[in-house]
Amino acid sequence: MRIDLHTHSRASDGTQSPADLVLAARAAGLDVVALTDHDTTAGWDEAATTARDAGIALVRGTEVSARARGVSVHLLSYLQDPDHATLADELARARASRVDRARSIVERLARDVPITWQDVLDQARDAVVVGRPHIADALVARGVVPDRDAAFAHLLASDGPYHVDHYAPEAPAAVAAIRASGGVPVFAHPAADGRGRVVPDRVFDELADAGLAGLEVGHRDHSAAQRERLLVIAERLGLLVTGSSDYHGTGKANRLGENLTDPQVLAEIVRQGTTEVVGA
Ligand code: AMP
Ligand code: ZN
Ligand code: FE
Ligand code: FE
Repeated sequence: MRIDLHTHSRASDGTQSPADLVLAARAAGLDVVALTDHDTTAGWDEAATTARDAGIALVRGTEVSARARGVSVHLLSYLQDPDHATLADELARARASRVDRARSIVERLARDVPITWQDVLDQARDAVVVGRPHIADALVARGVVPDRDAAFAHLLASDGPYHVDHYAPEAPAAVAAIRASGGVPVFAHPAADGRGRVVPDRVFDELADAGLAGLEVGHRDHSAAQRERLLVIAERLGLLVTGSSDYHGTGKANRLGENLTDPQVLAEIVRQGTTEVVGA
């Protein structure tokens, strides 16, 4: 069983439609794929229709933006009730804040490089969540940088001069909101220090107390040493361990299925979740 529990479509900052993402997952030889767009469930219905037709199992989820002790963190929510207001209202608030924040970043960038808000809208197209990758795509289209990676290296860096944060709930509250909405919360790439600061160890204890179900250990942004460390923490706190690609289409080097999750772990996630797996 090949199970990849973290991917993005054009509903957020991936480069493929939800339907094309599901077809790509099947073509990559996956048996199960999770769609986990940032702060939205907008891709769920299209992905589900395609998964049923294509004969691949689909886990519906969301990568929830949050903050822990001032550090930006991502929490994967699996199989929540998408209509439950506790989580849905938080996601809506983050999406609204993301628009204001993206406009602010573009205003700052525009002092030094050619870019307009319309450029970003042209790149975001049918996305319901606007993120820095769309600003990166606008910079690529203008010839300012060659690709998304180059945009993130300086102009869009979290510690760079143009950066602005968006609203995100405190991580323990986000974990509780995911649980209240019937979802299964897994801390995404918790040790990925290549993209900015990571949380101190006591945050793992706080999130476990709040109801965290697991840690995403298998992720390309984790070194072997970081994976070892996370496995020790997961063991100590009784947390599930997942592995995933964090695929964004052509927007990042991550390939579908490059990290996988054990079937027994998925079975436990399904047992704890509210929404059924499509095509299971
Ligand atoms: P945002 O959610 O708007 O803060 O933007 C963060 C998103 O940008 C995350 O989903 C990352 O996957 C993506 N990202 C971060 N660094 C890079 C990079 N070097 N190249 C492409 N995408 C990146
Ligand atoms: Zn992303
Ligand atoms: Fe993430
Ligand atoms: Fe992601």
